[in-house]
Amino acid sequence: MLNLIVCIKQVPMVAELPWDEKTGTLRRDLAPGMMNPACKHALEAALQIKEKYSAKITAITMGPPAAGEVLREALALGADEAILICDRLFAGSDTFATSLVLQKAIKKKCPKFDLILCGAYTADSETAQVGPQLAEELKLPAVAYIEKLEITGRTLRVRRLVDNFRETLEMEFPALVTVSMENYKPRYTALDGLERAFAAKKIIVMNATALGLSAAVAARGSRTKVRQVFLRKAQKGNVMLQGAASSVVNDFLDKHQRRIGAAIGKSIEGKKLDDEK
Ligand SMILES: Cc1cc2nc3c(=O)[nH]c(=O)nc-3n(C[C@H](O)[C@H](O)[C@H](O)COP(=O)(O)OP(=O)(O)OC[C@H]3O[C@@H](n4cnc5c(N)ncnc54)[C@H](O)[C@@H]3O)c2cc1C
Repeated sequence: MLNLIVCIKQVPMVAELPWDEKTGTLRRDLAPGMMNPACKHALEAALQIKEKYSAKITAITMGPPAAGEVLREALALGADEAILICDRLFAGSDTFATSLVLQKAIKKKCPKFDLILCGAYTADSETAQVGPQLAEELKLPAVAYIEKLEITGRTLRVRRLVDNFRETLEMEFPALVTVSMENYKPRYTALDGLERAFAAKKIIVMNATALGLSAAVAARGSRTKVRQVFLRKAQKGNVMLQGAASSVVNDFLDKHQRRIGAAIGKSIEGKKLDDEK
């Protein structure tokens, strides 16, 4: 039987992130949470492995107490165990600290895993960094943005779309993948699943002490601080260019030559329309 771990993040179910300017952190208490869409695809991939190859699924999340909801959802969908890593010390953690904490919990609670499945990225900060960082922390082979996987013995074959071509890669267990949203369409939670999730299965809660992480480490963990989050308001300033086509174009080239140069990767300094003839 395979041991699978699915890392799941709870993200705000809102377009405008409620940001606390003072602490530079997200006011997660002000926004209802949901399971991060890409994590649903990672969980679906794990459920399909379980159905095809027989596996045990452990769902793990780091977040505030309310993040337990996404673990209940994972249990309802068919995960076997759930771990909530919850400590005020971890509030505002950056991706480095998040992957460090996840690594500690995995080493403590489920060290004999075969495959870790993460979502490719999250809907709130979208860094796509946690999966690869966790693989580094655990010294695992890893492939990001996979859309399909097959298992033969201890070998994992994955397919992914990179730029405009598809590639197929192989690696041995234990390994880590991040799952894109191309495939593994998430299933819906069945009613009996919800009952099961709330009836039997309990969520294991771990704090910094349980992970052997001191306040100092937790505080020092984050190397990046998010200073401000704001929605860019599109400001359209229309400029009407008038006159003969060549002089309009030359005026435009003059005005925007640096940006055009940067966009096409070569300087157009001093270039004029009739230069091209
Ligand atoms: C608007 C905003 C901008 C931010 N910018 C940065 C930044 O530039 N650099 C930085 O280091 N931090 C940043 N952060 C903090 C960052 O969101 C947290 O560190 C977060 O826990 C992980 O980063 P992510 O959401 O980008 O994850 P991603 O790397 O995009 O997540 C990929 C996958 O990793 C797993 N995962 C991620 N977080 C968790 C979790 N808490 N529990 C379990 N599994 C998880 C999930 O499977 C997820 O699908 C930002 C936060 C916000 C809200």
